[in-house]
Amino acid sequence: MENCQQESHAITTTRKTSNIMENEHRLLEKAVSETEGNQNSDTFSANRGVAAFPCDKKLSYERYEGGRCEGTRRPSGDRSDRSVKFQGVTEVEDSKSPNGTLKSEGEDQQLSDISEKKCVRCGRGFCLTMEGKYATQEKCIHHWGKIENAVAPQLPQPHKVGVVGPVRTIRRYSCCGGKPNSGGCSVGQLHVWNGFGPGVNDSLDGYVQTRVRKTFPPDGNFGIYAVDCEMCYTAHGTEIIRVTVVASDGHLVYDRLVKPESDVIDYNTRFSGITAHDLNENATKSLRDVQNDLMGFINADTILVGHGLENDLRALRIIHGRVVDTSVIFPHSNGLPYRRSLKTLVSEFLQRDIQQDSSGHCSFEDARACMELMLWRIRTDFNCIFQSGVQNFLQLQNKFACICF
Ligand SMILES: [Zn+2]
Ligand SMILES: [Zn+2]
Repeated sequence: MENCQQESHAITTTRKTSNIMENEHRLLEKAVSETEGNQNSDTFSANRGVAAFPCDKKLSYERYEGGRCEGTRRPSGDRSDRSVKFQGVTEVEDSKSPNGTLKSEGEDQQLSDISEKKCVRCGRGFCLTMEGKYATQEKCIHHWGKIENAVAPQLPQPHKVGVVGPVRTIRRYSCCGGKPNSGGCSVGQLHVWNGFGPGVNDSLDGYVQTRVRKTFPPDGNFGIYAVDCEMCYTAHGTEIIRVTVVASDGHLVYDRLVKPESDVIDYNTRFSGITAHDLNENATKSLRDVQNDLMGFINADTILVGHGLENDLRALRIIHGRVVDTSVIFPHSNGLPYRRSLKTLVSEFLQRDIQQDSSGHCSFEDARACMELMLWRIRTDFNCIFQSGVQNFLQLQNKFACICF
């Protein structure tokens, strides 16, 4: 509260002493108002407050307790996960209630207990309390697939019998073939978010760091393992529900179902392959148990292989330095943030199909595929080096022979 009042005071002082900025601000207000067709230019409406959500002109959280969320206006360029508390208002007017009266301390406190998130499936905004209770009770209508390029059927040419038009590519959702701007084809009970906080990882509570092994291994091998995790959605973001570790020879080293710490909002079964029944019947380990197990055979010098490994390590809450990521080793032609899917890489380089099961992915299959991809890469690169080395060696030998004889 005190910070909020200080911030408001600072803004008031700034506005009084800077007429130029005030004029610019009015112009900006006018421009935004005209853009959105908002007739009321005196106060910021809830719609304007969520302009950073491209697909969301009217957020459901306006309904929360008589539209109390309407004070949450963020800079229009801010596309972060928007998990900042409601005290981060930038307008002096926001310290007043909609009817112009000053808000009580309790009311402000209630607002500051709510955070605004962005749904990772449909892009809409929604409100959560700090305890993880949904203030926005709204179904999540989304596409579960990705937008991809596809070849459109060739159209017959008008007035030319038997002649078809040129080949065209169209962009469509892989799940239903819908256009990029089409409504969703799947319905979730609630919106979900990724759990990322400020600084991506938010606080490091519960994280463990791999330790340096006290003794040097006799064979000099600190271990090479592929890791893959499956996640579900809870009110606190994604949480791990399965972890699989595979050795470099492909055999299974560790595979456990993990009990999530918070209530599950969506089991993400389409991708995780895990159902509520699986977890209720077979999950015996907590995340802390899994961390202890993994620390038993993964040390600071162990090489971990994975695809988008930062997501797995974040879910495991493990800090580890020696990683090999197949999404980096096999980069997308457009560069980051684009990444090639594991399925595509395996199809192209290993000439086989994975993730064919409609009931969800298998982390064992994915981890094994990562390890195979890396072994393929190493084999291919070493062959190139070896062949190149032999040629260089022969060239050098010839030169040496010329000099000597
Ligand atoms: Zn959603
Ligand atoms: Zn779809």
